[in-house]
Amino acid sequence: MIVYSDEYLRHDSAGHPENASRLKAVMGYLKDKLEALRIVEPRRATQSEVCAVHSEEHYNYIRALSEAGGGNIGMDTYVNRDSFFVALLAAGGAITAVNLAAQEGYAFALVRPPGHHATRDQAMGFCLFNNIAIAARYALEQGIAKRVLILDIDVHHGNGTQDIFYSSPEVLFISLHQHPLYPGTGYVEELGKGEGKGYTVNIPLPPGTGDESYLRALEEIAIPIAEQFSPDLVLVSAGYDTAREDPLGGMLLSQRSYWQIGRKVKTLCSKVAFTLEGGYSLSALSRGVYATLAGLSRIEVEETRSEETTLVKAEVEKRLKEYRHVLREYWDV
Ligand SMILES: [Zn+2]
Repeated sequence: MIVYSDEYLRHDSAGHPENASRLKAVMGYLKDKLEALRIVEPRRATQSEVCAVHSEEHYNYIRALSEAGGGNIGMDTYVNRDSFFVALLAAGGAITAVNLAAQEGYAFALVRPPGHHATRDQAMGFCLFNNIAIAARYALEQGIAKRVLILDIDVHHGNGTQDIFYSSPEVLFISLHQHPLYPGTGYVEELGKGEGKGYTVNIPLPPGTGDESYLRALEEIAIPIAEQFSPDLVLVSAGYDTAREDPLGGMLLSQRSYWQIGRKVKTLCSKVAFTLEGGYSLSALSRGVYATLAGLSRIEVEETRSEETTLVKAEVEKRLKEYRHVLREYWDV
């Protein structure tokens, strides 16, 4: 089940990699591939839902900038006249997906702008409000879940989500991402603080990582930790900029990894909600979303596999050994 609205296309900037053509491409592809595509319209997140994870100042700043006609935040993040409304609809889309997951098992929110770089006080990295963090907080406050796993598979580290839940033991944040890469955070030593110590798990992987090493990191570290946490809701920050064809990321994943992610995540919990983050090759993004949905519903996809060098394999092997050593203080890995 898909959460989507054409309103998401109104946040747009021609020539920017995060533009409206991304969702047009995905929806076109899914309508071709899936005969019965169920689409649910999102609702807007309320101010109090947004401000459960963001400051009032941040909320008011995005609203004021958008109402004034828009502008840029930092080097890479744009706001236009419609962006405030669309960002509320994106956060609301993630909430809608949580409600659908609670009722029917799983849902995928195809939303824009993305969210995982937005911190409590700061828009950055194409993100205005942190959609998945708002949805996780909503699920906790509504009693839909007591323990939420956020698995972040975008090629970039989800610094905003990490920041928001850094002290929280009720949200386990696990991120697999490329390092070095924007935004530069996400070292394995970033483990959370206070009561949240151990509930932030970073698995940074080298450029050139392909399916084999990626799935090893997922199966040998991320999944065992997720199982020990025993979440009653799983949220996935689903970025497809890990794809081989992606112009922004340096990883080499094929559809195989996205299919496996869909399949494995479904075994963790009876409630699973995906929220779209990055992915800037229109074709890899579209095929990636489809492969994830196919994995979730156990539809077979054509087997593909990306190659990686022995040098990268050895580097991942070395890193995973080191990560186990650090994480062993909190988890059985
Ligand atoms: Zn990304």
